[in-house]
Formats: sequence, C-alpha cells, structure tokens
Amino acid sequence: MHKPFKTNKRLLSKEEKMIRAIEFYTFDDLDFELEYLPVDDGLTHEERAALDDALDKALDKDDFLEADRLCELHPYIEPQLDVPKNYDKLSSSVRFLVDAFVSRDIFEETITFKCLKCDYEETLDLEIVEESWDDIGFPDYPVAYCSNCNKDRLVPIDIYNKKKLK
Ligand SMILES: [Zn+2]
Repeated sequence: MHKPFKTNKRLLSKEEKMIRAIEFYTFDDLDFELEYLPVDDGLTHEERAALDDALDKALDKDDFLEADRLCELHPYIEPQLDVPKNYDKLSSSVRFLVDAFVSRDIFEETITFKCLKCDYEETLDLEIVEESWDDIGFPDYPVAYCSNCNKDRLVPIDIYNKKKLK
C-alpha cells in the first residue's frame, strides 16, 4: 500500500536486539528477575524519596500543576537493562533463542508525527500506529492524540507540512 507519508527505517544495533530478545524471552518466566543498570539522576536516595513523597502529596490533592513542576524539575530516567548480567543468568535454551534473534537483521520502522495544534513532535513505532489506525475515518494517514495538548491532531510530519503550506 502506498502511504502519503515517509517512515524511518533503521537497522537495530546488537545491543538493542539483545535488550529486546532478553525482555521478550524472559517475559513469561516469573522467576526471572531482570537486572538493571543503576540510574544516575543526580539525586541522592533521600532526595529521590522526598521528591516521590512530594509528588504523591500533589497528586492526592489533584494539584497537577505542582506535579508537573516536580516532574520537570527532575525528569524520570528509565533504567537500562544490564545486558551482560541478564545474559549470564539465561538458561542455555533461552540463550540459544536470544543468540538466534541477535544474529538476524532486525529493522525498526517509525513515523515522525507533528501536532497541527501545538507543533509538538513525537516519534511512534509503525507497528503500534498500524494497530490503532482508524482507517475508516482517516483512510490516507493515521491521526493520534498529542501527548502535549491532548487533542487528536497529531499527524505524520509530511501531512503536517502539506497542511501548513496550504
Ligand atoms: Zn498538540
């Protein structure tokens, strides 16, 4: 199917494939505890706890402005999987599956979206977009909710450029 917008196709690195395979093949094993690298967010343990506490209090009071302020002050950093540590813990049968996955060329295809209302840009995975694409209402291109302004005005950037040029 011809799409009136571009996608970005990229070959995954070995590290990225390792992370995906380890997460995928250990997902059903409830006894397997994933190991993560320590996160350095510049906060001490006590400071992080105090911040979490303040955030809970703000959310309890529905004070979303304060909650936003706290989150922006110290953005949450997603912990990264410790690849060697997890790989060492894999059983030989799972390790075999992970090695097989990593030896293949795996591509990731994404679309860059831009919001027609607030100009916010976001990159989304093509597979996820296609799953939720309501092609009855919008047969030519997907439309998504903008996580910045909460309006359903997020469109592929090529469509955004076409509409803004008009
Ligand atoms: Zn927006």
